[in-house]
Parts: sequence; C-alpha cells; structure tokens
Amino acid sequence: MTATLAELEVRDPADLGRARQLAVAVADRLGFDRLAGLAVASAVSALLTQGRGGRVAFDLEGEPPASLGVRVELGSPPGDGQALDAARPMMDDLRWEPSTGHGVILMSKALPRPVATAEAGPIARDLLGIEFAPDAEDSLRRDRELLEVLGLLEARDHELAQSRLELEDTNRGVMALYVELNERADSLHRASELKTRFLANVSHELRTPLSSILSLARLLLDRADGELSNEQDRQVDFILRSAHDLAGMVNDLLDLARIESGREPVNPEPVDLAEVFKALRGMLRPLVPPDSPVRLVIDDPEGLPPMVTDEGKLSQVLRNFLSNALKFTERGEVRLVAEPGPGEMVVFSVSDTGIGIREEHLARIFEEFGQVDGPIQRRVKGTGLGLPLARKLARLLGGDVGVRSEPGVGSTFSATIPVHFPGRAPEEAP
Ligand code: ADP
Repeated sequence: MTATLAELEVRDPADLGRARQLAVAVADRLGFDRLAGLAVASAVSALLTQGRGGRVAFDLEGEPPASLGVRVELGSPPGDGQALDAARPMMDDLRWEPSTGHGVILMSKALPRPVATAEAGPIARDLLGIEFAPDAEDSLRRDRELLEVLGLLEARDHELAQSRLELEDTNRGVMALYVELNERADSLHRASELKTRFLANVSHELRTPLSSILSLARLLLDRADGELSNEQDRQVDFILRSAHDLAGMVNDLLDLARIESGREPVNPEPVDLAEVFKALRGMLRPLVPPDSPVRLVIDDPEGLPPMVTDEGKLSQVLRNFLSNALKFTERGEVRLVAEPGPGEMVVFSVSDTGIGIREEHLARIFEEFGQVDGPIQRRVKGTGLGLPLARKLARLLGGDVGVRSEPGVGSTFSATIPVHFPGRAPEEAP
C-alpha cells in the first residue's frame, strides 16, 4: 500500500528550497530524528539540482506502513550518476532503472517507529499547511543546517565512544564472571569426586563389620550358642533388623558411588520380561500379607518387543518403585504395567493409590537423601536413596524416569527404557 503524504513541483531554486523544507517536515512528522530528516532533504536536493526541475513525492509504503518512500521525477535521466552517488548513502534504498530512459528515482528509508495507515490523512493535511521560509533565507538556513549536522554528528560520535567504553567494561565483567564460574565448576567437580570416593570407601569398609553382625545375630537367633530368653530373642531380632536396614543403605550408597564414578558396567543381554515380573512378584509378596488392604498387581507383559538390556539394573529400578509404592500405600492397589513407548522404548509404570506427593516435593525426591517430611513418611523407614538410584540406573540404560502424583489420590512412577541398550554406557545426564 502507498499513501501519498505530500508532493511538490520543482521549477526554480526557490522550489528546491521548499522541497528541502518539505522533506525535513515529512521526516519530522514520521518520527525521524533531526539528522535523518536532514539526510532525506539532502538526498532530495542532490537529485533535483541535477535536472532542470522535476517533481518530488513523499509516500508511506507498506501495509502496515514500514518505510518512507521518496519518488523524484526528473525531466531527463540523472546524468553521470554523481547525484545518485550523493543521495544513496542518505537513504536505505535507492533505485533508478536506466533502461526506462527517463529520470524516475525511487528511494526509501525505514520508519523509526510504527505509523498507522490511518495517520496518513492527518499528516498529509498538516503538511499542506506548512509555511515555507522565503527564498532569501535559504542559503543562510543551509549554512545553519550544516553546522547543526556537524554538531549532531559530533554528539553521536561522543555517544558512540561512551557506549564503546561501557561495552568494554561489561566485557571485562563478563570475562571475570566466566573465570569465576569456571573455577567454581572445577571445585564443585572436585568436591563431587571426593564425595563419591568417600562414599565408596566408607560403604566398603562398613560392609565387612555389617555382615559379621548379620551372621552373628542370625547364629544367636538360630540358638547355635544355646537358648535365649524371650527378651534376648527380641533384642537380637532388633539388632538383626537394624543391621539389615543398614546393609541395604550401604549397598545403595555403594551402587550410587559406583555409577557416579562411571565404573558401573552395563551387561546387556536378551531379557525375558515375563521372568523378570515373576521374580518381582516372588520378591515383593512377603511385603503384602494375605489380609493386607493393598493388592499388588503385576500383569504379565504383553505385546512388547524382545528387549536387550541389563536385566539386573532394570529389575532394581522396578523393585525400588514397587517397594516405595507399597510403603506409601495404606489401602487400594499397587500395579506394575509395561507398554511400548514412543520410539524404540518400553515404558514401565508403577501406579499406586497411596498418599501421593505434593507438587513442590516432586523435584526433590530424585535427589540423594531427598525425602518428604510427614507423619507417614516418618513412620515407614527409608534412606532417601531408592529413587536417585533408580534414576541413575535408568539413565545408565539409556532411558529415564518420571513421576506424576496427586496428594491423597496416588502416584505413578515410570521408567522409560530403550528396547535395545544403545551400545555404549551413556554419560550421566547432568
Ligand atoms: P526412601 O528410602 O525414603 O523411600 P526414596 O528415594 O525411594 O527413599 O524416596 C524418596 C521419597 O519420595 C520418600 O521418602 C517418599 O517421601 C517419596 N516417595 C517415593 N515413592 C513414593 C510413593 N509411591 N508415594 C508417595 N511418596 C513416595
């Protein structure tokens, strides 16, 4: 769309002065700054001084308007091109088609601010009313404009130098931050490595005395060393159970430390999911006594492609999900389902009708020792290591874990595992 804002016939030097003044006024109405307005005026007068008279029209171009279009019509083609060279740098675009044989030159300059099409009419009317300065003042005025342009250019130069200084300062700041960040990342990395080594060593050293405690307690309970009083039986049973819990925690810590150190091998092999599920049923049944108000449902997997992955690790992930679900479900159902997922994946989901997890705790439960504080959570024992371990194992297998939960309704933990282990042990995702 083109809407004409103003046009002028140029026949003599007085008209030329008016064309310049009109250009400045048009640019001003469209929001151009003073320097840009004088540039448009200079482009117009550079072209019009060329021929013997002509016309100039100022248009709004585009829908919505995007630029000021200046159309200069000369009586003849614009000579040796000097005028075009003088006008071109003043505008964004200048076109002249020499093959047409006449002197129509089209120029444009992008608008500095949005102008609505509806503004064209009022601007045009406003421009009709401008009072041109008389001819005699023209040369004086041009001198003043030149001085003004020089002043504006100098101010702009100063601004640029200022901005450059500020940019240099910012740059130095960014560099300093970058160096600091790098140092922090290094020290975090070292701290994390130390933590892993510490956990591995401590866990390892704890294992031997723990297995002695477990065996000795079992021997005592089996009456290998003679009869026990009821009280002794109760106390030794307590020792055995505590040592058992501790051994579970030590094993989880060792597993976590091994995975973090990148030394945990993955042994992919064809996996019979039906067998894995059967073993899980057997392992978890003791947690659900026949009179329990919780039903454990582990459906036989159906319609799944044959998987090649590390069976031990997959089973450990599902075991952790299932034992959590049983821990945090007082009545209803805990169900394991395996379905084909997007891409070459299998999605294992463990859903329960338990206490659920509040939104703000969901991110934390996959962090080491990230437990939710609450009366039920305090009653059932746990270490806060099961879910982080499950996530690390799933990622080691090339997959990941996820959770959806609604407090008071239940939770669904899922592990999405590639049908075929991707080959190389993937790096721990950050
Ligand atoms: P824990 O040994 O404490 O169970 P986990 O890492 O396995 O450690 O779980 C972390 C926390 O996440 C739990 O303490 C519990 O608050 C919450 N959680 C895990 N599974 C469930 C679930 N199925 N329902 C409700 N809360 C759960």
